[in-house]
Amino acid sequence: MLITMKRSATADQIQHVCDIIEAMGFEARPMPGGVRTAIGVVGNERPVSEAPFRGLEGVSRVIAVSAPYKQVSREWRPKPTTIELKNGVVIGGPDVVVMGGPCAVESEQQLMTAAKVVAEAGGVVLRGGAFKPRTSPYSFQGLGDRGLDLLAMAREEYGLAIITEAVDIESADLVAEKADIIQIGARNMQNYGLLRHIATKRKPVMLKRGMSATIKEWLLAAEYLLSGGNEQVILCERGIRGFDDATRNVMDVSAIAVVKELSHLPVIADPSHATGRRSLVAPVARASVAVGADGVIVETHPMPHEALSDGPQALFPNQFKDMVASLEAIAATMKRPLAALA
Ligand code: PEP
Ligand code: MN
Repeated sequence: MLITMKRSATADQIQHVCDIIEAMGFEARPMPGGVRTAIGVVGNERPVSEAPFRGLEGVSRVIAVSAPYKQVSREWRPKPTTIELKNGVVIGGPDVVVMGGPCAVESEQQLMTAAKVVAEAGGVVLRGGAFKPRTSPYSFQGLGDRGLDLLAMAREEYGLAIITEAVDIESADLVAEKADIIQIGARNMQNYGLLRHIATKRKPVMLKRGMSATIKEWLLAAEYLLSGGNEQVILCERGIRGFDDATRNVMDVSAIAVVKELSHLPVIADPSHATGRRSLVAPVARASVAVGADGVIVETHPMPHEALSDGPQALFPNQFKDMVASLEAIAATMKRPLAALA
């Protein structure tokens, strides 16, 4: 439930509503807005009675939040969440954000070349896994902390923000310290201990959809982050498991539109892991922007055939450049510009 206060509500009236909520055994979450304060009720398993709030001084409206996720929902917060990165790029606003880079950070030369490609093509965020959650324990597991330092070096050189995955609590601490956005991968979407830990960080988080997660499960996973205190959450649709092996996963394009309806959080599309095939990445990226994604995250590698992971889906540098140009055109028809570096 959400209680919106009148513009004229006093601090005492707001406190009184919070006290009643707490006395009922729930938690009150006051959210001061530009002109009025809203107070969220959390911690309730069943519907909360509206009676104690009706007619209270200072109360404007009492709104039932029907979805099982609360703070993530549009009912809770009708206005889109915007997240400003250190390089000035805003995610979730009018601009469409292009993120790009290799699947994994492999070496200084590989990453710096990829960063140059991304920046010159018009990308604003550099991706690259330093800690890799590989399906096989025998596959390349990433450079770890050294990979984070290489990402920071590329940020310094090109002004790109950096996003990289945290796979456990230990790597989450390192990633939170050095990256601009903490990525939570599909395999960890329902790792609730990790979600709770990352919720305590004061850094934007991108939560990828689990490979077999329903939209409700995905939004509830995001709720762990918001309810734990981190409101800077970005969702990422990266395809779900299907029966057809023509593509690596099935890009759930409609999920992007569904989530934009249900939630105020920004949504990024990952056509690389969705399709698994280089030739399909740009078309699916375009479809994602057309359906309302706030940006895309796309794998590109200076030499895809030598990539230590996900080579078949990595774009060649010229393909990445062409993709960004075509996204600019699609975004323009949606009346949105592509985000640019200052
Ligand atoms: C990745 O982004 O490199 C990755 C491992 O993606 P996902 O978690 O979506 O499989
Ligand atoms: Mn990958």
